[in-house]
Amino acid sequence: KAKSEGRSTYHFFETGMDAELQQRRAIEAGLRLALPRNELRLMFQPLLGLAESRVTCVEALLRWDHDEQTISPSIFVPVAEETGLIVPIGNWVLHQACRAAASWPGDVRIAINLSPVQFRQKDLVAQVKAALFENGLPPARLELEITESLLLTDSEATIEALHELRAMGVRISMDDFGTGYSSLSYLRSFPFDKIKIDRSFMRDLTTRADSQAIIKAIIGLGHSLGMSTTAEGIETEEQLVMVREQGVSEVQGFLFSPPLSAAALANLLHSARAKGQARQKAS
Ligand code: C2E
Ligand code: MG
Ligand code: MG
Ligand code: MG
Repeated sequence: KAKSEGRSTYHFFETGMDAELQQRRAIEAGLRLALPRNELRLMFQPLLGLAESRVTCVEALLRWDHDEQTISPSIFVPVAEETGLIVPIGNWVLHQACRAAASWPGDVRIAINLSPVQFRQKDLVAQVKAALFENGLPPARLELEITESLLLTDSEATIEALHELRAMGVRISMDDFGTGYSSLSYLRSFPFDKIKIDRSFMRDLTTRADSQAIIKAIIGLGHSLGMSTTAEGIETEEQLVMVREQGVSEVQGFLFSPPLSAAALANLLHSARAKGQARQKAS
């Protein structure tokens, strides 16, 4: 009896592992067809420049419509990275996002997330150039967001690619700052243009003095290193007031706007522009 119970427990465990593995394989198989089946799309979240009082930048965020549901990038991007599919997908994102940005007002930049795996392709810089050139987008209107995991590998080729991109006029941002093991040391490995403060620090900003102190310190660090700062995940007025007081350059979050479809974002940009022009004429 004991033996058969043991067996069934073992089987249960095995089935649990199988289910996980099967789900991963299903994602992987689906993801291989995502591009040819046109199942990927970009959403666009505006970032508000506080000194400028306008949208200064828009972040492209990937979505996968599959099996009648929308799958989040936090689920499928890791699988895309493990399988190398992030390379063709990432290039698709680059081209689509630059194409969208080309139709926006000239003072609005596009921010694109890059996976460390994309830096392993030798022609990443050429891909970026092609995406800009084909859409007539000036390099100064492109920001590339990278995370600390890229610099963990710290290969010379990676740093070289970053310098090459920056020399073209492309801006480089450090995303999710403060979540890694040694965020501070990474600030010395490359002269970033922008630090995006991870949204985990915003969550308890109004209730925890330590989060306030950390945000204040990161913004001060940005100022002294000549890097601009963005507060991610601003959801409430109180959070906005606090980061504004600390001198953050930009805010991003549901309070201002969630990620929008390309059409809704273009509407927002052009109607804000029209209002601004009307105000100028009236004064
Ligand atoms: P991220 O680059 O840090 O992007 C910001 C994430 O925060 C987005 O999640 C956005 O929807 C979410 N967000 C924005 N404002 C708020 C807020 O006020 N509250 C909360 N709770 N969340 C907010 P999303 O779109 O699910 O993307 C998750 C991550 O997936 C991104 O984090 C990025 O690391 C990755 N990702 C998205 N698109 C791409 C892509 O095209 N390529 C690569 N390699 N990674 C991507
Ligand atoms: Mg990002
Ligand atoms: Mg981020
Ligand atoms: Mg994040």
